[in-house]
Amino acid sequence: MKHRISSLLLTGIFFLCAGCGAPAASGAAEPASLQFFSMDTVMSITAYGEQGQAGVQAAREAVNRLDGLLSRTDPDSQISRLNAHAGDGTAVEVEPDVAELLSFAQSVSQLLPGDFDITIAPVMDAWGFTTEERHVPTEQALSAALALVDSSQLEVDEAASTARLLQAGMEVDLGAVAKGFAAGEAEEALREAGVERATIDLGGNVTVIGTRPDGDPWRVAVKDPRNTDGYLCILELEDVTLSTSGGYERYFEEDGVRYHHIIDPKTGYPADSGLLSVTVVTANHVLADALSTALFVAGPEEALDFWRSRDDFELVLCTDDSRIIVTQGLEDAFQLYDQDGGYTYEIARR
Ligand code: AMP
Ligand code: MG
Repeated sequence: MKHRISSLLLTGIFFLCAGCGAPAASGAAEPASLQFFSMDTVMSITAYGEQGQAGVQAAREAVNRLDGLLSRTDPDSQISRLNAHAGDGTAVEVEPDVAELLSFAQSVSQLLPGDFDITIAPVMDAWGFTTEERHVPTEQALSAALALVDSSQLEVDEAASTARLLQAGMEVDLGAVAKGFAAGEAEEALREAGVERATIDLGGNVTVIGTRPDGDPWRVAVKDPRNTDGYLCILELEDVTLSTSGGYERYFEEDGVRYHHIIDPKTGYPADSGLLSVTVVTANHVLADALSTALFVAGPEEALDFWRSRDDFELVLCTDDSRIIVTQGLEDAFQLYDQDGGYTYEIARR
């Protein structure tokens, strides 16, 4: 049986069932809601309670501030400045939280070598993902671009709040972590404003604060990567953030072959690891975003090994042979969306 979902919040990877069940009969007011475009995607923030309006405004400002700092296409952003000085020896000043983000991204490359690298930008360019003129690059162009991918050649000085790219031509692309980082700052802005119940949908990154007004958990739907009008599952969650990565988010087709935007840094080609999507559930927004991208490249076995080595996140993996693998910590939160949807599911245990 399909679950009835009464409100479609947005176009992201998820929609939230925020509208299932009206606000509690205690007279809870209508929530404050904002939809806006930032970081190349439509975003939606909804907050309940008296501070809702102030909260959503503050959250939007927080996201827009980061968009201005992190965008690779905005020539005035701090990341563009960092990229423009690649190889010339300049340590570029960045905001302390940007330095922290760069260091964090480097640490993920060390944890999952060969799966994740924020200096992937030249390869993204070779495929035309940045210019919208998408095409399969020549082997020569691809190997030249790959030679520039090495985040150990990014020097970050968190104390001085500076960063430097050691080789000319290197560029940082924070596409894999920017929205997660923004989600964390948006949550902080909402909480500082006094908001205790809210949903933040930054397109593939969903955060739920508190519970629904009726006290029940939020119901978050994970998209079906094969049919993005449909869903794989519903997760019932409180006070947590989710990030989904999938090849269906951005892709093009050439000669009947589909090429997507999540690149395997070992080959320079779109990752083909046996996964169609990865959803990471955790309290840590940037971790969620970084890991959803990295584990999509890693594939199901490495992803589950990595999950078993830690205790700070849970996973929903969708494999290309139509299995949904849900890690143990989500067992009670998980409901298959459609019994006849062509997917089977299994619980991965430690
Ligand atoms: P996400 O949607 O969070 O999975 O991030 C995908 C984006 O991250 C792409 O559009 C690129 O900007 C960037 N990216 C692609 N492949 C990688 C990778 N292997 N490591 C780090 N960033 C990547
Ligand atoms: Mg990501």
